This record gives sequence, structure tokens and C-alpha cells, in this order.
Amino acid sequence: MRDHEVVIIGAGPVGLMLACLLAQEGIDAVVLERHDGADDRVRAIGIHPPGLRALDAVGLGADARAAALRLEGGDVFSRGRVLASVDFSEERPVHVLPQPVTTALLRDRLLGMGGWRLQQGRSVEHVREDADRVTLTLAGDGVRSEVTASLVVAADGVRSSVRANLGARWRGRPGAAIYTMVDVTDGSAGRRAALYCEPDGLVESFPLPGGGRRWVLRHARTGDLGQGEGPEQAASSLRQGIEDRTGIRPDIPEDATISVFRASQHLAGPLETQRVALLGDAAHEVSPIGGQGMNLGWLDARRLAETIVRGRANGRFDLAGYERQVRRTARAAQRRSAFYMAMGCPAGAATVRAREALIRTLGSTPLRRWSAGLITMRSS
Ligand SMILES: Cc1cc2nc3c(=O)[nH]c(=O)nc-3n(C[C@H](O)[C@H](O)[C@H](O)COP(=O)(O)OP(=O)(O)OC[C@H]3O[C@@H](n4cnc5c(N)ncnc54)[C@H](O)[C@@H]3O)c2cc1C
Repeated sequence: MRDHEVVIIGAGPVGLMLACLLAQEGIDAVVLERHDGADDRVRAIGIHPPGLRALDAVGLGADARAAALRLEGGDVFSRGRVLASVDFSEERPVHVLPQPVTTALLRDRLLGMGGWRLQQGRSVEHVREDADRVTLTLAGDGVRSEVTASLVVAADGVRSSVRANLGARWRGRPGAAIYTMVDVTDGSAGRRAALYCEPDGLVESFPLPGGGRRWVLRHARTGDLGQGEGPEQAASSLRQGIEDRTGIRPDIPEDATISVFRASQHLAGPLETQRVALLGDAAHEVSPIGGQGMNLGWLDARRLAETIVRGRANGRFDLAGYERQVRRTARAAQRRSAFYMAMGCPAGAATVRAREALIRTLGSTPLRRWSAGLITMRSS
């Protein structure tokens, strides 16, 4: 006897999505999360059409649409000129919803299908796989215990310890960069995103629901902004950095929460063994530039849920098939993000002119719909 059919490690948006999908099928699936409280880090804000379809699949589409801001489109600038403008159609909308809100919707939905399905304050320390089961060693409340399952899904994030425990590789792509980010109140934020692909590096500006705005600024050099500074200096350097590149002086209060993140890309391999699968950021890290990581994780969660439902019927989970699909879409998402990052890297005059020409072409009438499809993950 095993304790559960499926154990999911990690109650991030991706682990919770999979848990909701399995719970709807009546599968005995439980999520183990090491933290007691909610994760209030505002990381993802962009929900693309495949992500919205995943939310629809767990009955949360209407709630997410109601809480989110629907983005009308975006404009790309360089050196004071608009290079391209893209509108998001009714059929391929982009919604903006802070990750803690999205995660809370998923958590509530899961708890509504059984309080036992989410167990917080339970940290998985070790995974052992045998022919007929997986045994997890847990720590929590100072007590060590064991849980067994037919299948374990590690959705434990980009620093996944289960991935390391399985001995999977974590292959990086070249082209990492450092960015500073802040979310501020801004009543005039509107419904359009603005991307400034400037010679000194990218500045992004996104409206947030409830009258806010996210600013993201790429560092010209590693460690040149925000790092090692107190909050007041960090706010003032960010304000100045944005003004120098865009001519806009944003209202960033001195007590604003400013975060610095490194955008890099990795893909794990293998993504599965007989009875353990990696999911979400544990399987692939996609640069936040382009906003695809969570959406991609939800797509994978839907694939994995189908694999589990099918495997349950015939007693064999086709995790190798799941791995093939995940690798294909993750690589495509990483190529898109690498392209977005290249369009916003600090560059000399010749490169800036060449990329301005490329962005103009992508925003021209014959290609505009195709470009909107690229941004909204049409091929995923
Ligand atoms: C600045 C920024 C902006 C972003 N913007 C976007 C965006 O607009 N759109 C988008 O799609 N994506 C975006 N992303 C990416 C998105 O945030 C991630 O892809 C997403 O959080 C991945 O979800 P996850 O559930 O796989 O992992 P996580 O959210 O990292 O969750 C992992 C969970 O596992 C738990 N855990 C870890 N180890 C253990 C253990 N041993 N035992 C038990 N629990 C454990 C953790 O506590 C955590 O709760 C952004 C990322 C960043 C950094």
C-alpha cells in the first residue's frame, strides 16, 4: 500500500495547477509545501492565452479575468521614436495579474476540493525510488517522517533539490543578464505595455490591475545598479536610470520594494525517471523577459495530468512522452526569450540601427499579427 497515488512537491502556481487538474479527476493527489504561509513575491504578472486556457480548465478563468487587467497591446520605442505597436486581439488576449493573486485562486480552488490536498510546513528532504513506489523523507515541526506514492512530481522551483537528488543535469543557455524591478502605484498606467530598447539597455513598463505600474530596467553592466545600495539609493538610481534612457521620471517612493534578479535560462535533463517527474521551474528556467515561465509550467501541468490519467488506466505512466513534449516547448520558449533579451541588451550604434530596423519590420502591417502571435505564445 502507498499513502497516495501522486505526491506533488511545491505549492507554487505550477504544482497547484497540477493538483487541481488531478483532484478534478478524482485522483488521490497531495501537495507538500515547505513554507507555512503564502508566497507573496510578485514575480509573474503576464497570463498568455495558453495560461488562460489552463485556468479555464480548472474553473478559474472567469475569476482570473475579473481580477486581472486586460492588456490592449504594447509599443516598442528606441531613441525617442515608436518603432512598432502591437494590439492583442479578443481571441489572443494578454491578462496582467500578480502571481500571489493567481496562486491564491489556485490554492482556494484546491482546498475547496479537500483540505487534506495541501499540506504546508512539510519540507521534502530526500526522494528514494523503488520498483513499485517512491518514498519521500520529510521534515516539519521538528519531526521526520516518510510518505509513499506511486508517482512523485517535483514542482519545487528553479533551485529544485529533487532535481539534484535525481542527478539530473541543469544545462544553461548563454546570455544571462541582471535586471532591477519595482511595482509602484500609478493611476495613469493605462492598458498598454511600453518597451524601450535603448542603447544603454532595456526598460519595460507594464500597467498593473488596480492602478499600478511595473518598471524593469536591464543593467548596463553586472552590478551597476541597485546592488549593495540602501533602499533610498536604490530608488534614486532606478529613477535616474529610467529617466536617462526614456526621458520619463517615474514616481518611485524611497520605501518601494526594489528587487534585482538575474534572468538566465536552463533546461533539466532527464526530466523524469520511472516514477518521478520534474515540472515547472524545476524542469526549465525561462527568462522572465517575455513572461512565459509560469504559463509554460501550466501547459506542462496539463500534459502531465493527461499522462497520469492515461497511465492510471493501464498501470504505466508514459513520462518519456511527457518529457519529449516539455523539451520541445521549453526550447521554443527559451529561443523567444533569448530573442527578447537580445533586443534589449546594451549595444553600439551599428547594432542599435540593425535591431531598430528588425523591430520596425516585425511591427509592419504584414508581420504585425505574426508578431502578436509570437508574444502571446501561439505556437505553445
Ligand atoms: C521577476 C520575474 C517575473 C516573472 N514574470 C513572469 C510572467 O510575467 N509570466 C510568466 O509566465 N512567468 C513569469 N515569471 C516566472 C514565474 O514566476 C515562474 O515560472 C513560476 O513561479 C514557476 O512556478 P513553479 O510552481 O514551478 O515554482 P515556484 O513558484 O518557485 O514554486 C516552488 C514551490 O516549491 C516549494 N519547495 C521548494 N523546495 C521544496 C521542498 N524541498 N519541499 C517542499 N516544498 C518545496 C517552494 O517553497 C515553492 O513554494 C517571472 C519570474 C520572475 C523572477
